[in-house]
Formats: sequence, C-alpha cells, structure tokens
Amino acid sequence: MKGQASPPTFKVYTQRDLDRIPQLAALPEAMRFEMKVVSTVLPFRVNQYVIDELIDWRQVPADPIFQLTFPQRGMLDPEHYERIAALLRAGAEKDEIAAAADAVRHALNPHPADQMEMNMPRDEEGHRLDGIQHKYRETVLFFPSQGQTCHAYCTFCFRWAQFVGDKELRMASSEAAVLHNYLRTHPEVTDVLFTGGDPMVMKTAHLQSYIEPLLAPEFEHIRSIRIGTKALSFWPHRFVSAEDAEALVALLERVVEAGKQVALMAHYNHWKELDTEVAQAAIHRLRSTGAVIRAQGPLVAHINDDPAVWARMWQKQVELGIVPYYMFVERDTGARHYFEVPLVRAWEIYREAMQQVSGLARTARGPSMSASPGKVEIQGVTEVAGEKVIALRFIQGRNPDWVQRPFFARYDDQATWLNHLKPAFGEEKWFWEDEYAAIRQARLAAARA
Ligand code: SF4
Repeated sequence: MKGQASPPTFKVYTQRDLDRIPQLAALPEAMRFEMKVVSTVLPFRVNQYVIDELIDWRQVPADPIFQLTFPQRGMLDPEHYERIAALLRAGAEKDEIAAAADAVRHALNPHPADQMEMNMPRDEEGHRLDGIQHKYRETVLFFPSQGQTCHAYCTFCFRWAQFVGDKELRMASSEAAVLHNYLRTHPEVTDVLFTGGDPMVMKTAHLQSYIEPLLAPEFEHIRSIRIGTKALSFWPHRFVSAEDAEALVALLERVVEAGKQVALMAHYNHWKELDTEVAQAAIHRLRSTGAVIRAQGPLVAHINDDPAVWARMWQKQVELGIVPYYMFVERDTGARHYFEVPLVRAWEIYREAMQQVSGLARTARGPSMSASPGKVEIQGVTEVAGEKVIALRFIQGRNPDWVQRPFFARYDDQATWLNHLKPAFGEEKWFWEDEYAAIRQARLAAARA
C-alpha cells in the first residue's frame, strides 16, 4: 500500500503458540488453559492482523472478534471439557489426548446435512468424486485441496471438520481435471462455487488452473463463478499487497471480460471487519475488476445476535458497494450449543435489523437454514386460523419444485433447527417429507454401493 515501507507479512498463531500472543499474556492463566483445552478438540488459528487490528482487547472476552476467533470454554459441553482438561492437567501422552479429542469430535456431528453421503457425485464408473458437491441442480461446489484452510478460523465454523487433520473428515480434490470433466458432462450446471476453507488462501496460479479453463467455449453453460471467502475480513492484504495480488486482479478481470459473472461470496459477521483501511482498499480493488461482492454470514450468539450490529453491517456494506445477501442460521454441528440462536429470535433480529436500513440494504435473505432437504428461510411468525405458526419457505430445494412454496410449522420459540420443528395444523408430515425420504434413500444407497 502507498505510504508503507513494506507490505505486512502474514503471521499465524495456532494452539501451540497460545503462550506467545502478547495480548493473551495479560489474561488470567485459567483462561489460557481453557483455550488450550477447547483448541485440543476444535480448530484454532488466528493471525496478527486479526489480533492487532480487529480485536479491541479492552473489551475481551466480550469483544465480538475475540469470540469469533479465540476458543471459549462454553464451546465444549462440561463433560467433554472435563475429559480433555483432566488429560492435559495430568500431562497425558499425546496419543491418548488425540484419541480423546477424536472421540469428542465424532460426537459433534462433523458433517451436518448429510454432506458426505448425499452430496458427493460419482463418475460413470461409480467412483466418488472427492472434492465436489452437487446438491442443487444448477450449482456445483468445488473444494480445491490447496484451499482447505483459512487465514484464521471462526470459532463457530460449520466446516471445522476440514481443519482437524482427520483425512476421513476432509473433502478435497487436487484434481482440476476432475472438476472440469464433471462440468463438461453436466450442461445443467450454470454456477460453480469454489469453497473451502477459503480458496483465497491459494496462490493465484492455483486458482487460475481451476478457473481459467472454464473460459473455453465447451464451458459456455457455466455462467457464474463464485468464490466463497473470508479473506476480505481475515487477511485483506491478499487483495492489496500480496505478491500475486496483481495476478489475481488480472485473472478476475479476464473472467469478467469473457462474459461470466464473478461473485465473491464474502463472509462477514460484524461491521468491525469492514472498518479498517486495508479492508476497504481490498473491497475497492476487487470491485474494480467487475466482480460483485455479496455478503453472507451466520447469526451467532456472543458475536452478532443484535439487530443493531446487522443493521450497521448491512448499511456499511451497501456504502462500500457490497450486496447484502444472506443471514444464515448457525448450523447443527461443532460448538453449536454455544453459538445457536432460536429460530424465532433469529427472525426477530432479522426483522428489527431490516427495519433500520434503507431499501438498498434490504437485499439480505434470511434467516436461512442450510438443511439437508434444502435452504429453508424463516419468513416470520403469524397466526393462521387461530393457530400461532412459523411461516417457512424453501429458497433452494433438493427438488426445484419445492422452491418458494410456503409451509408452516407449529410455533416453537426454543427450536434452533429444522428438525426441531413440527408441522402446523395437526399435519403429520411436511409436504416435502416423503419425496425427501425417497431422494435420501436413493442417495444413501448409491453412496454405499
Ligand atoms: S471462514 Fe468459513 S470455512 Fe473458514 S473458519 Fe470461518 S466459517 Fe470456517
């Protein structure tokens, strides 16, 4: 950046560096021990930029970015916490700790929404195509193997299982050819989403090897290239001063010039992530390529369960030329009991936030659950024929015919996920239930074959 002697280098801290973070030294020893216990089970990674520029250490532990990146005791249930803490206190062997951590992880629903079994396609010979997920007809998700990490980790991460070094739990592919072959034979696919982890941790050259071939005429049917990223928050220097930032900008420009949509699906949780000079410079640079930045992120307790935070974040995004896109519901995995917000409360927060912003900021959908049958939005609480109900709709569905059909659940102010809800009006089942069961059975049978 202009005015700086040399660009800042990326410096990362993981569990074994907890004692080396100067700001943590000022916290009680007991708190650091809690962090060690939790990060034995769940991934932890933070970088100097987040520590120095995003966290207000005077507000710790309540600071939202501290909660977003540093492990908190409440993230493990007391029994799990004690099991690991006892081993650490006793100085147990590495292997014993690792086995205990593994057992706890497997109890935390590492792959919500049946990702492993239901969304992974196969080739003509029936081989599972690792690294690809194809859940909705028009969109393919691709997990490039070099992009299966992030510049820092979110404590609530729904893909945490990717980061704990357990191969069985990972989904990734290093094979650009696998992706390209799959897309070649699926003309119904119009959108490819590169996801992770964070594909923006990859070198531009890697990203290019996946993306550039899609500009060939045989991929005419691919209209949009989306890249899911939190680099705009956790390491905006990636787009401004990294040695291959220029090459990245040039790549995105070529894709846009070729007539395809480039959408950066930027993960934001709090307006503080938008406030630094470098974050704004990165947004500006990306927008100058013709890429569109769409903002999405989950509503999470301890971080952003406040309408004022969302209103300020959406308004700020619009000012910076970003399109507010989704408010998600925290997923049913990992430390969800610490972060989850009841669906009814989530809707109230969404509604109150919407009421505070101008029309341009009202483009965010939500609150939306990415459940196995589809993306289900909570539309509101109302009364129909004397019964208090929650109105829902599919934004995306395993069957496209379900999309936009309203349906109703019995009012329940404690439910935090779709499977906690019951159909309203004394109905036994959801309108989509039988069909979903059939789709699920067929997929699971294919996965086992
Ligand atoms: S940026 Fe996304 S994938 Fe990375 S840690 Fe956060 S939620 Fe997980």
